[in-house]
Amino acid sequence: MIRIGVNGAAGRMGALLVNKCIGSTELWLGAATDRGSWIGKDVGRLVGTDSTGLTINPVTSQAYSECQVVIDFSLPEGTGELIHALSGQGLVVGTTGLSAEVTDAIAVYARTAPVVMAANFSTGVNVMLGMVRNAAKMLPDHDIEIVEMHHNQKRDSPSGTALALAKAAKAGRIGASQVIHGRSGHLGARPKGEIAIHAIRGGDVAGEHTVYLAGDGERIMLGHLATSRAAFVNGALVAATWCADKEPGLYGMDDVLDLK
Ligand code: NAD
Repeated sequence: MIRIGVNGAAGRMGALLVNKCIGSTELWLGAATDRGSWIGKDVGRLVGTDSTGLTINPVTSQAYSECQVVIDFSLPEGTGELIHALSGQGLVVGTTGLSAEVTDAIAVYARTAPVVMAANFSTGVNVMLGMVRNAAKMLPDHDIEIVEMHHNQKRDSPSGTALALAKAAKAGRIGASQVIHGRSGHLGARPKGEIAIHAIRGGDVAGEHTVYLAGDGERIMLGHLATSRAAFVNGALVAATWCADKEPGLYGMDDVLDLK
């Protein structure tokens, strides 16, 4: 069994991951960390089961000593604290909106341990990234716009997935492309080579992304709809299992899913 730790255990993603690990015959939940009033509570409280005997702890260097792989779906400050508390465990990072400093610290940690990082752990979005790169290449004159929608509690904007889709579109283009965020004011005609991201927030939407490639008299819309968080949870657990026996390095979901 692979010994898993979950950081951000009391969050929307964290509680689902805890639940899956508790019900799994292949994964064993060795540690759960969060902050504030969750500290000291039994993880069973998160998932409505009886007492499990495993307590939610703060992130410390001892917290994950029993774990092979730690899965992080917290907030950027939580990932920042975690990265300095680990000592060789595999790491799966799902948290988005990370600062350059935390991203750099993850890259340094990946010299000593396997790390899988992805803005989106669903198989569908990772396949879509390749589709967007190819479509952008095959339709060099089409204008590209990206629209994303998420629930009203999401903190970072635009979503990490929208940024990844813009990066994929940019990679398909030969000339320079400029990624912008929304539009406001009397800006005049849309410049060629612009890739604009528009973020919508509301309700309990798990995640919707549409990439428009608009030309004269036609447009292609490549879309992904997450109907629940199950696709992210399952993908993160596949990534955790995959990285448990990998060499140190910084990997993406394209490595895990063999999409390269
Ligand atoms: P959430 O707000 O429900 O949960 C975050 C949890 O992290 C909370 O329980 C919070 O208390 C905890 N936390 C915050 N700071 C902490 C710290 N310093 N130490 C320990 N715990 C800390 O958020 P969520 O909806 O579960 O999303 C979490 C993150 O995952 C967000 O960045 C979100 O954008 C991202 N996300 C990524 C994917 C993906 O596929 N990569 C999918 C869904 C969400």
